Amino acid sequence: MPVVNSEIVDNLIYYTLPDGHGLLPGDEVHMEIDWQRRYRLMRLHFAAELILELIMRELHMEKIGAHIAETKARIDFIYHENISFIFEKLLTQYNQIIKADKPIKTDFSDVNSQRRYWEIEGFSKVPCGGTHVKSTAEVGFITLKRINIGSAKERIEIRLASSDCH
Ligand SMILES: [Zn+2]
Repeated sequence: MPVVNSEIVDNLIYYTLPDGHGLLPGDEVHMEIDWQRRYRLMRLHFAAELILELIMRELHMEKIGAHIAETKARIDFIYHENISFIFEKLLTQYNQIIKADKPIKTDFSDVNSQRRYWEIEGFSKVPCGGTHVKSTAEVGFITLKRINIGSAKERIEIRLASSDCH
């Protein structure tokens, strides 16, 4: 049965199954992760986080949204010009970090509240409770596309350059 939704409430994870699942409280279930999907999401998630960290070093702007899907990620900003002028510089820095195969360290900053962070060499700790790959080389190269989504609203779309899966 597919899991149609999941949410965390007070450190417990609740899964929603389709109607008619027939399960009763206490029934044992066997669960499997859709690894191909998960792995793409993990790679795109980190690519988006790294791009966000890098771009915020260059430009002071407000992030107004972000979304990670299986084939692409996006980050939206308030910015008054075409943001693509920064892409070449951004990708040069990004590619250096990917090629350097830096370990991505993750840990709890506070176990009780389940607060976690990731950290790579040269960056301060970034608070995030998501799932992360183990090194920057796993994330791989990306392409960036700029989309204008309204007045003074700029979107960066991120896609993995290679979709191969481990
Ligand atoms: Zn993260």
